[in-house]
Amino acid sequence: MTDSVVTIGSKTNLTVTCSNCGKEGTTGEFFTYQGAKGADVYLCPECRAKVNDTLVGEEKSIPTWRAFGLGLIAAVVGAVIWYYITILTDHEYGYVSLGLGYLVGYAVLIGAGKRRGRKLQIISALLVVFGIFIAEYAIFSHSLHTYMVANPSQFDWWDGQPVWVDPWNSLFLESFISPIGLLIYAIGVYLGYVVCKPQKV
Ligand SMILES: [Zn+2]
Repeated sequence: MTDSVVTIGSKTNLTVTCSNCGKEGTTGEFFTYQGAKGADVYLCPECRAKVNDTLVGEEKSIPTWRAFGLGLIAAVVGAVIWYYITILTDHEYGYVSLGLGYLVGYAVLIGAGKRRGRKLQIISALLVVFGIFIAEYAIFSHSLHTYMVANPSQFDWWDGQPVWVDPWNSLFLESFISPIGLLIYAIGVYLGYVVCKPQKV
């Protein structure tokens, strides 16, 4: 932020009142801000410094790692819930990803001490993507296992142990990448992203 004193045109040296402490001064000494509805708002140098200290302090003190940690737990818990909903109902509800988006977004927000910011939004969105991915991976592994158990003749090499699928395996990727699926996931990621959106002052 630049420390420029507004001294332009006819407003120079008008007597104004600090909108924070009520002290009187001139527009030459005070800082002028565009307030709501175009009206000017004035701050004396002391109040301006105080406001800036508070803002900088808040930004620095955002506990990013706690926000990440809580968001990660939410992503894993959400993915586990998603997995069980899917295998117990034998149906995959894409809308569960919307719930995952909210769950992760609010966990990040709470972890950050209710503070918001662009960095928290990105962390939240990436954790939603991670949650979607592990849910889909677990679901795919489960259905593959079920299929192999049902069709042993096709897998005579198989010893019955759990099979680890390469996450980049095309069968796995095709199992959940569809236009409608991607749209629902994108909405889930977006929900996780907007929860931590900075509020306008
Ligand atoms: Zn003041």
